[in-house]
Amino acid sequence: MQRYHRQTILPQIGVDGQKILHKSKVLIIGAGGLGHPAIQYLAAMGVGEIKIIDGDSVHVTNLPRQILFSDQDIGGNKAEILSRKIGRIYSNLNISFESVFLEKSLALKLFPDFDLIIDCTDNFESKFLINDVCVLYDKPMIYGAISQFEGQVGIFWKSRGACYRCLYPSIPKSTIQNCAEAGVVGPVAGTIGSLQAVEAMKILINKFDKLKPLIGRVNFYNFSDHSFRSLDIPRRQTCLCHAPNFKKENIIEVKRAECKVGGSVLLVDVREKDEWHEFHIKDSINFPLSKLESGLAPEFALNQEVILICKASMRAKRAKELLTGMNFKNIQCSDKGVYEYQTR
Ligand SMILES: [Zn+2]
Repeated sequence: MQRYHRQTILPQIGVDGQKILHKSKVLIIGAGGLGHPAIQYLAAMGVGEIKIIDGDSVHVTNLPRQILFSDQDIGGNKAEILSRKIGRIYSNLNISFESVFLEKSLALKLFPDFDLIIDCTDNFESKFLINDVCVLYDKPMIYGAISQFEGQVGIFWKSRGACYRCLYPSIPKSTIQNCAEAGVVGPVAGTIGSLQAVEAMKILINKFDKLKPLIGRVNFYNFSDHSFRSLDIPRRQTCLCHAPNFKKENIIEVKRAECKVGGSVLLVDVREKDEWHEFHIKDSINFPLSKLESGLAPEFALNQEVILICKASMRAKRAKELLTGMNFKNIQCSDKGVYEYQTR
């Protein structure tokens, strides 16, 4: 207990609060920019058990914000490397990992075993899935999101207020962007992930008279001009999740073709974003040729098997040259254009 003295002298935590942390089980989805500070602070504070899930591999463009990774880790699985490093520092922590992207069946299996779930993902599909399974089991979801200089933190918890679908009824179409597309700065991820750790700690200790967690509220921070908003999220009357008959079958299935470890081929559509939104092949991801031309590299592993596709084949061929120049090893071009896959 001496190790945690600076925490236990706080009346909001106390020795009893510390004992609760030791017995707590936390599930973190995403071992990226948010997952790094979240897992490190919770481990350092003395949380007893943490599992981390991520199917993604470390890419050189992750290093400025995923600060526990080094050059030697490039190409390795994020969850595995992070859990190994954290486990070395905090020897009393019971840490484990899953080197896959979260899918419905895994979420249904794992979530009941944990006190809360921390959403450190970077895409709406995963957030909806985490929300839905949290709703099913009435688990607190510690939500975080970052883009460019902005960050969001909040808590969704079915029995105590709103859920994520009360905020976003369906996956927003116009803003489908993740950090790979929109850009982000490391300290923004560090700050938001740390705030998620603070909120998780409050929920675990459960002294809501002394420490007020952001239940049913989302804080929006803009670090470029220090503007800030705190939004109460009311429970939406028509929200699917709060319907009395909400059940497993209502939960969306998330299938991500991207970056499966050692696995499936990734279909990358190199047309521009507006073309992609107009029509794209299911499970393809978009990485416009214009970005490659400007020197930006996509976030998949160098050994990822990739098929490039565009409207005809010109842009795919040019993209292949550029990716090969960036040391990507398994790049092929589709011999068909995207519209040839369109079902009419
Ligand atoms: Zn809801």
